Amino acid sequence: MSKKQFKAESKRLLDLMINSIYTNKEIFLREILSNASDAIDKLCYLGLTDDQVGLNRDDFKIEILVDKDARTITVRDNGIGMSMEEAENNLGVIAKSGSYQFKGEMESDKAEDISIIGQFGVGFYSAFMVADEVTVLTRKYGEAQGVQWVSSGADGYTVSPIEKESVGTDVIMHLKADSEEEIYGSYLEVWKIKALVKKYSDYVRWPIRMDVEHQERYETGEKNDDGSPKYDYRMVTENETLNSMIPIWQRSKNDVTDDDCIAWYKEKNRDRKDPCALVRVSAEGQVSYKAMLFVPGEQNENVFSGDNKGGITLYSNGVMIMEKCDKLLHEYFDFVKGVVDSPDLSLNISREILQHDRQLRIIGQNLEKRIKGELEKLLRDDKPKYEEFFRNFGNDLKVGVCDEYGRYKDFLRDLLLFYTSEEHMVTLKEYVENMPESQKSIYYATSASVKQAMNLPQCQEVRERGYEIICLTSPLDEMVLDALREQDGKSFCNVVTDDLGFETEEEKKAAEERDIENKELLDFVKDSVGEGLSKVRLSRKLSTQPCCLTTEGGLTLEMERYFRHGPSEEMRKLRATRVLELNPAHHSFEVLKAAFESDKDKAKRLSRVLYALAELSAGVDVEEPIEFVEAVAELF
Ligand code: ADP
Repeated sequence: MSKKQFKAESKRLLDLMINSIYTNKEIFLREILSNASDAIDKLCYLGLTDDQVGLNRDDFKIEILVDKDARTITVRDNGIGMSMEEAENNLGVIAKSGSYQFKGEMESDKAEDISIIGQFGVGFYSAFMVADEVTVLTRKYGEAQGVQWVSSGADGYTVSPIEKESVGTDVIMHLKADSEEEIYGSYLEVWKIKALVKKYSDYVRWPIRMDVEHQERYETGEKNDDGSPKYDYRMVTENETLNSMIPIWQRSKNDVTDDDCIAWYKEKNRDRKDPCALVRVSAEGQVSYKAMLFVPGEQNENVFSGDNKGGITLYSNGVMIMEKCDKLLHEYFDFVKGVVDSPDLSLNISREILQHDRQLRIIGQNLEKRIKGELEKLLRDDKPKYEEFFRNFGNDLKVGVCDEYGRYKDFLRDLLLFYTSEEHMVTLKEYVENMPESQKSIYYATSASVKQAMNLPQCQEVRERGYEIICLTSPLDEMVLDALREQDGKSFCNVVTDDLGFETEEEKKAAEERDIENKELLDFVKDSVGEGLSKVRLSRKLSTQPCCLTTEGGLTLEMERYFRHGPSEEMRKLRATRVLELNPAHHSFEVLKAAFESDKDKAKRLSRVLYALAELSAGVDVEEPIEFVEAVAELF
């Protein structure tokens, strides 16, 4: 039988692991037990709709068998098993889709990279940390033939068909020889195995059983001199269940601390970071359920599964009925992970039924309120941590605000944060609370970055009045404000496009008259720049800057930039209506005016330069860079 090679990236990881980089070797048992438990989950689930399975809930179990002479420890389950193809695909490659990325991270071979392994479990392969040979005997439910898979580590594996009486899987680990650093033989000791199961696998929902020998006192049948019965001791073997089997979310808060839940979450999700929020619910009443939900601490693309989505696993009385239910919470809470267990949920639930399931809707609504409450608490108590959360998942909330014509906007609005400087974020409520009495609107500016938005010339006057400006950096941000419409009765005002509301009626009139007076010059500037420009006027917003670019109508420069990468030609061609504003109080205006009187060519060049400067300060690309450079050069 020829030996098959592991996929290249698996081999690398396997080498690292076998070569003892991973210090916490004992977790191998947890990983193998957890696979066994998952396999039973799958068959049990199948049994709900398939009478052929022929096993009741009580029949499922995981057994640990120890053979000291052969130096093997075996984990046996009566779960779903694997076909030949599955054994090859699942056991022949580490971590499937996530492995390439992982390999990339490992390439530099730095110590801190290697520590990544220590942070995650690595599933089945962890067996090789303690074993020099692993044999898997398995038979898939519904198949007549079994499969034997054998590997001694990095040099490959063999697979062959075998006869196997029962459905399920045996993972037989032949332990390495003891060395100075590690007494591998200790994993054959009952006390050690018991301790490991208690420590890591107590919450596994299926019984983990093992034959345990212990001393028993018994009556020998003989009598002592005083006539009392004689006792002696003998060894008896009893099949013990080592784990408590109550899933962690079923246990009361008195029994299980938040830290226990967090440790469970990190292990289950292979997440390095603590979650930033935890919601534990035990509800009785209209619908009874238990829930344990987590808001992850980072947007972690799981390097092993390639899966970065959250998702709620549904259980009914401890039986998993759906691994990832995406109908329980709205999409804006897609990042939430965890479990919901309710005896009121029907066991053979399908996706279609779920959508209309009343119980599920009630649970979903309640949980959303709890999640929101927990996030609000975080915002109140630990703003920097909330900001980190928002940088990770804020976009989901923003999309939620815009979704379904703003249907959820009021539920979500207090969870949104906006930059008012590069370092500082506020909620709209906070913004309004900080507004001086004289301020009538909520001012915002849009650009590619917070810094650019802050530096827009149009922001000057607003800031000089002591008003804060919200900086938007994506078209989504603009759509969010559009959907929200107002905050506490205050409307939003774009510093670039809207009337800032600072001018009195007289000032407005005077400004209009000034535009009329300079009409000839302004028209000349517009003609000099050419097609892209719709209007030129004298600015009422600028103080020290020579000019700025403003837009009119609904389409802003930011949206234009966004649509430039749009899917259709029509979208990509969309242009905002550009208005050039000149600062009549700036020296440049005097120079332009003088040139307009005496040297029309120079005035034309100056017009183009001013337009290009306005484009630059608005953070958009100069449309004719060469022309701009030439025009500036000619001024010398
Ligand atoms: P993970 O469990 O994270 O998917 P593993 O490396 O632990 O990664 O296992 C890989 C796959 O091998 C599992 O997803 C499962 O399909 C299969 N597998 C492992 N152990 C068993 C088992 N005892 N019974 C059935 N399938 C198993």
